[in-house]
Amino acid sequence: MGDEPRIAAWLAFNKEPGETFTTDELRNALGHRLSKTSRNDMEHFQRRIRQLRSIRDGWVFPSAKHDRNLDVGDYKLERIGWHPALGKRPKDKSKVTKKNKLFVLTRDHYRCFHCGIIAGEPYPDHPERTAVLTAGHIVAAADGGTGDPSNLRAECSDCNETARSDTRAPESLNSVQTSIDNLNNRDRKRLLEWVSAGQRGRDKVDEAYDRYRLLTPSDRSALVTHLLRTTKLQ
Ligand SMILES: [Zn+2]
Repeated sequence: MGDEPRIAAWLAFNKEPGETFTTDELRNALGHRLSKTSRNDMEHFQRRIRQLRSIRDGWVFPSAKHDRNLDVGDYKLERIGWHPALGKRPKDKSKVTKKNKLFVLTRDHYRCFHCGIIAGEPYPDHPERTAVLTAGHIVAAADGGTGDPSNLRAECSDCNETARSDTRAPESLNSVQTSIDNLNNRDRKRLLEWVSAGQRGRDKVDEAYDRYRLLTPSDRSALVTHLLRTTKLQ
């Protein structure tokens, strides 16, 4: 057996997430004679450690390069991943099944939790693109969040991406503040409610619209007819 599977197995059986380990500790445990090893062997061994992190699922152990509190050659084991040497791959609990995705999108009325856009609606700032909804994790998969509906919410692909990697250009406080200063008090109160809830509010009209969007095309046009007949327009 090569070094990489032995490193994986040793870590999985001897260390808990949160503990640190050192290159020397691993070498010792795997029977490398510390005194007899050359600089070349050492580099080779460290490469095997890094390889475990880069090509195998789920291993997270920053080194001194990523975490200033660590000494050179030390690692902090944040997450034990999987390796063929550890046997059958465990079921990925964070995975979202088709059934759960459908359940969550239906439960959330096909409406993005963050920006409130509805599946198939064009984005206000990019009308050439329409929203595609997915079931996003509340507690991220990387932090152990499961694919259970209780940990999922409807998110559009834009917001889901933002949540994951913060790719959107940041806003400036000044310009946001100016636009808020232009709101009247009623709107400001509404904004405050949304901010405290961490979610865009939905009033009865929003809700009616969300539900209208879920009708079949022929039912939608029947509803429009009904709306036109029962609404005073002037
Ligand atoms: Zn969104």
